[in-house]
Amino acid sequence: MISVEEALEKVLSYVDVLEPENEPILNSLGRVLAEDVYSDINIPPLDNSAMDGYAVQAESIEGVSPSSPRILRIIGEVAAGYIAREEVTPGTAIRIMTGAPIPKGANAVVQFENTDEEKRKAAKKPLTEIGILRQAAKGLNIRWAGEDISSGSLVLKAGTVLRPQEIGVLASLGKDVVPVIRRPVVAVLATGDELVDIKEPLPPGKIYNSNTYSLAAQVSRYGGVPKILGIARDNIKALEDKIKQARDADLLITSAGVSVGEYDVVKDVLARLGEVTFWTVRMKPGKPLAFGLLHLGKRKIPHLGLPGNPVSSMIAFEQFARPAILKMLGKKDFAKPTIKAKSEGRLENKDRRRVFARVRVTKRDGQYFARLVGPQGSGILTSMAQANGLMIVPEDKLTIEVGEEVQVQMLDWNEET
Ligand code: AMP
Ligand code: MG
Repeated sequence: MISVEEALEKVLSYVDVLEPENEPILNSLGRVLAEDVYSDINIPPLDNSAMDGYAVQAESIEGVSPSSPRILRIIGEVAAGYIAREEVTPGTAIRIMTGAPIPKGANAVVQFENTDEEKRKAAKKPLTEIGILRQAAKGLNIRWAGEDISSGSLVLKAGTVLRPQEIGVLASLGKDVVPVIRRPVVAVLATGDELVDIKEPLPPGKIYNSNTYSLAAQVSRYGGVPKILGIARDNIKALEDKIKQARDADLLITSAGVSVGEYDVVKDVLARLGEVTFWTVRMKPGKPLAFGLLHLGKRKIPHLGLPGNPVSSMIAFEQFARPAILKMLGKKDFAKPTIKAKSEGRLENKDRRRVFARVRVTKRDGQYFARLVGPQGSGILTSMAQANGLMIVPEDKLTIEVGEEVQVQMLDWNEET
């Protein structure tokens, strides 16, 4: 048996970052920037006003106060998006709106609240002059050209994961297309004579194929593109035909057929079509795992053979397929968010494997609590539906007592949903 870490290290050694592609900006959310991005403009492009008010020469209003205002002549008005034609000179002012470029000659903006504009309006006086009630330092309420981004500077580094704020920064530079790492295509194949497609009626002795759907959803959730290959029957010919359809994928994920049963032919087919290693991983659930390279035409495609039990396949996906997808996407942080919580239940770990127990985590008085979500059998898929985390019981830990502090790998964490 090998450890979870050894298995993961091996899986990761077979996958690499994929090539860049140009994507429309709105498709780049959550993706990894493939090149450094420099700006060829200043942002803001021109000095502009941070307030609605009057653009003035600071020197004209030195020493003014509400009791001794200075009256300036209004020579124009400028809104955001326009350039003032007039020039501010000593004794004059231009009415200016937030975001409007600072007119020539002005070096400060006095906000409306520090003028007598309200009073003049109330008295129905025409706005030909304005009383300034407060003095202003040079530069007051001015946002300088290039103060956010200066032309020629490095704005975002290759490797950055694009969040809404980076999308905004790219848009502010006028980039409508963004170089990002391509998404991996992940072929998903279910195997088993007992499986029926969810569109069909359910005959006696059969079960619906649920793994394809939970696994494909996991692929999508972590940024891959699922390619559904359907169901392969438990015979070598059927399986080979299906597996060949994974030819243009970046990763093949199969479920079931990797244990020691007579009909577990996945391992035989894989051995024929490539190099494969079978592992028993020291974890529960999810012990049997196949991993290798499939030789399809000229390509060698990494293949992860997950166990068939619905809970096992999902948990093994989280531990091994998720990091592989993240690595191909160019991401660097593969660890799932993990928290410390107090266990609300007792748990025994008899066979010294790493246990991933399904729990519901809640927070009370600033402390996390983890409650086991009922039967923990690896076929009980509703336990996954009730859980929002996986309590990790280390290999050498034989019991977890009520109230003991445990690590919980969170299945749901805001940034992933
Ligand atoms: P196996 O690894 O083939 O022995 O399968 C282990 C268990 O998982 C059996 O009870 C299978 O019926 C079940 N199983 C295998 N594949 C699927 C699937 N695609 N959807 C739901 N259950 C499955
Ligand atoms: Mg089977």
